[in-house]
Amino acid sequence: MAMRLLQLDGIALRIDHEATRAIYESLVEDSCASCGCEFCRNWINARPYVHSAAFVAFLEQFGISPDREAEVSFAGFKSDGQFPYNGWYHFVGEIADVKEQPLNLWIPPCGVNFTSELLCVYDRFRGLPTMQLDFSTTVPWLLPNGPAAAVE
Ligand SMILES: [Zn+2]
Repeated sequence: MAMRLLQLDGIALRIDHEATRAIYESLVEDSCASCGCEFCRNWINARPYVHSAAFVAFLEQFGISPDREAEVSFAGFKSDGQFPYNGWYHFVGEIADVKEQPLNLWIPPCGVNFTSELLCVYDRFRGLPTMQLDFSTTVPWLLPNGPAAAVE
């Protein structure tokens, strides 16, 4: 393991960029593609809106591939044409020091937080010190049919 310190506003993490990148490079399909539901398909179309240079560079610090979320979830309807989503990624690392909790970083267009409470972790992380990077954002609806069709 080759951990190095990553100092962010309000939190310091020890991360293993190489180990994380190796895991992401081995992931052939992401959770949205394997789910295939309407909300996941909309998300796949909306990724270019979310993957700003700032957000991609932020993820790259950890070795995370932007299109390999652990999970993405639709977070309810809005009337302004934008649709809120939450999602998260995992990376090899641990907390070194926390100054602010809860931490709310703004990496446009995403709010970002960290937790060690992990959900839906890819198998390859098993046995490694792992953290979860949570994000939230809003995207347009980009499928030909409206989202109401998916809500029973
Ligand atoms: Zn889905």
